Amino acid sequence: MSQRFLIVGGGQAAVSAAAELRARDATAQIMLISDEDVLPYQRPPLSKAYLAGDMPLDRLLLRPRKWYDEAKIETRLGLRVDAIDPQKKTVSADGGSIPYDRLLLATGSRVRRLPEGLGDDLAGVFYLRTTAHIDAMEPHMVAGKKLVIIGGGYVGLEVAAVARKRGMDVTLVEAAERILQRVAASETSDYFRKLHSSHGVTLLEGQSFQRFEGDDGKLHSVMLADGTILEADVALVGIGVLPNDDLACEAGIACKNGILVDEFCSTSDPNIFAAGDCANFEHLGARIRLESVPNAIHQAEVAAANMAGEQLAYAATPWFWSDQYDVKLQIAGLASSYDTVIRRPGRREGAMSHWYFRGDELIAVDAMNDAPAFMTARKLIEGTVAVSKEVVADAEADLRGLLR
Ligand code: NAP
Repeated sequence: MSQRFLIVGGGQAAVSAAAELRARDATAQIMLISDEDVLPYQRPPLSKAYLAGDMPLDRLLLRPRKWYDEAKIETRLGLRVDAIDPQKKTVSADGGSIPYDRLLLATGSRVRRLPEGLGDDLAGVFYLRTTAHIDAMEPHMVAGKKLVIIGGGYVGLEVAAVARKRGMDVTLVEAAERILQRVAASETSDYFRKLHSSHGVTLLEGQSFQRFEGDDGKLHSVMLADGTILEADVALVGIGVLPNDDLACEAGIACKNGILVDEFCSTSDPNIFAAGDCANFEHLGARIRLESVPNAIHQAEVAAANMAGEQLAYAATPWFWSDQYDVKLQIAGLASSYDTVIRRPGRREGAMSHWYFRGDELIAVDAMNDAPAFMTARKLIEGTVAVSKEVVADAEADLRGLLR
């Protein structure tokens, strides 16, 4: 009897797992169930090229229809799984029951919404997570219109850049003391504050959103906690995401800020695995979730290998990127609990990197238009060669030489 592998989810992790399962088992039955109506697509371009109108949907797809057909991966699109029965090894969807031998939960994350009653149901207010969100918002991205963005994370800042290129009037409201507070040091926030200000974005940091106001169901302004009223034709809310772990929790699988997995990507049920944004795993002594494409790919591949009978441990090597105007931000490592940040100019004009140390240990680097610094930093963080603060602080020191 061939194995039945079932994947719930339609994002990067789901597709990476499907490809890995097929590579490892030529005869297995593989089914991918996604509640979105479109084939799995790349999410990073949504707040960049897709919103800017520079990338059509067919280029966004992770794999064309032909690939699924040739690999004999059955896709069930627009289908929502309602429940898992771990004892019977089935999932229920649309009144039917689908059996599995091994199940992968690659359910990803969903946008964090504002509390009800604050006006996010007004026409002109958008969230951003799916192509459907962008398709609805894009026609409103018109030169001269006023856009107010709530949240100064990646979504907010990337959309601000696209909107300015379109000639919109952009104001961004961040509740925390500074933009990018969750992911970067103040040096990096300063860099991006300057960048956005130089492109004409009004940044309001340490300012809390109160509510959206409208007439006849249509947005006209945004009220802040200090009473400030910002006129708005369009608003975008980008205040983070929440893991889609409800299915797992309701099935009795251990969850806490995501679906808890061990180093083999296995959940508290040995036949159920999880990978990507929804999975909570141990990394350097702490439990984390990583909301990033590289993690979705590699964790899903390891999960798939283990579903097919391997016993591989997943070791995350976190990295991220963002494009804003003509700046490419590349981040290696996780900048948490650092005590020193060293600024290091790159060789090319405008290139800069920020190196984070915890004690004597290099833990993360933010590189702005400095790919060589990013590449070197990744290898130093992931490898066994130590680098001292003094060497990093010496702009003339050849860091790549350390890797030889
Ligand atoms: P995010 O990176 O978590 O940023 C959300 C920001 O909104 C945070 O700075 C948060 O501050 C702030 N915020 C929260 N509540 C607020 C409020 N009521 N008023 C004003 N600001 C508020 O999340 P995101 O930008 O929405 O992105 C969503 C997901 O997509 C994330 O997983 C992100 O990593 C991913 N994404 C990644 C990229 C990339 O890697 N280039 C691009 C786009 C999206 P606090 O931290 O203080 O709550």
